[in-house]
Amino acid sequence: MSDDTHNVDPLTLARDLIRCRSVTPLDDGALSLLQKQLEALGFTVKRYQFGDVGNLYARLGGKAPNFCFAGHTDVVPAGNREDWDDDPFGAQVREGMLWGRGAADMKGAIAAFIAAAGRFTTRTASLPGSISLLITGDEEGAAVDGTKRVLQVLAEEGEHISHCLVGEPSNPDALGDEIKNGRRGSLNGIISVRGQQGHVAYPERAQNPIPPLIDIINRLYARLLDDGVDGFQASNLEVTSIDVDNPAHNIIPSAASARFNIRFNIAHTGAQLCDWIKEEAQAEEQSHDCTVKLNLNIMGEAFLTQPGTFTSILQNAVEEITGRRPALTTGGGTSDARFIKDFAPVAEFGLTGASMHKVNEHVPVSDIHDLSEIYERVLSLYFKEYQVARPPIVVHGKK
Ligand SMILES: [Zn+2]
Repeated sequence: MSDDTHNVDPLTLARDLIRCRSVTPLDDGALSLLQKQLEALGFTVKRYQFGDVGNLYARLGGKAPNFCFAGHTDVVPAGNREDWDDDPFGAQVREGMLWGRGAADMKGAIAAFIAAAGRFTTRTASLPGSISLLITGDEEGAAVDGTKRVLQVLAEEGEHISHCLVGEPSNPDALGDEIKNGRRGSLNGIISVRGQQGHVAYPERAQNPIPPLIDIINRLYARLLDDGVDGFQASNLEVTSIDVDNPAHNIIPSAASARFNIRFNIAHTGAQLCDWIKEEAQAEEQSHDCTVKLNLNIMGEAFLTQPGTFTSILQNAVEEITGRRPALTTGGGTSDARFIKDFAPVAEFGLTGASMHKVNEHVPVSDIHDLSEIYERVLSLYFKEYQVARPPIVVHGKK
């Protein structure tokens, strides 16, 4: 197989993607652009629309193993146009950099996926397995109608992903810094305490909700969750807001609430943390005469893809192209890898994230080309390692 349609220039594609104003949940043609490119490479493309979110799954080849590149075409808002040196959706190239919203997070990586797949299939006489792409338009938003739902539907359709590489900008400063092979979990909570309003001069006729709220917060802060485990930093709980909304000096308010978030490693599950928070809240509810309501949301569980053959392939590919061996790390926020980990071993490697979600988001043009070389190398090493052996030729008897 060899023709010009397989030569996808990753910079051109990244620029075309940035020009799509795909601020979550808008798509603005980004997925159709990918569909066109992928179909030209021979991929079978399926689109999944859930609510106002578009998603795409494309596969080339029918055999196992199925190596999947995953990512998102949606971007965070650009903010004030005046704060940018260029049009955030103009995809300017100057000073050796590509500028624009999504350059790093993560349209540059998606363009690199496709360019790598194109070159790899051109150079490979027969594909030893399958290459797939799972692209969502809902990673930066609620992430409810995106990767999570597509994976459920794919499983129902009998589709199997063997290993997955997410193109999130995993490098803090330079290409080759880090591969993420896990992520901490995240739990959002709101504690609402209801007492009884009254005059501050007559406290016996009121019930102040603030002291029990403070006591609950103190109980939560009193526990050292852990000291860090197995490649993870320590879990931490942060109270992010305490809200009473009482402008008066002479009123005991009737309600007080606090918001918090816990980033937790694999020493905990979201459910265990919820049980613990409920116990602490109940203890204070009983000792104070008040009502405590909890609103707890597990945003993602912690996970770790054990270092091994798969992570070594990724490290080797990065080292071959950049000359630097990336560290395996688990820091940073959550990503769609939290959903993928239930279906396949998953890791993340993409561009440099220093400017992501900021004004003047940019990446070196050379990094986009290098990243596509790395992804191509990953495919070569992966299929060499995981290719399913051909069944022995049957000599006797016909089937
Ligand atoms: Zn991202």
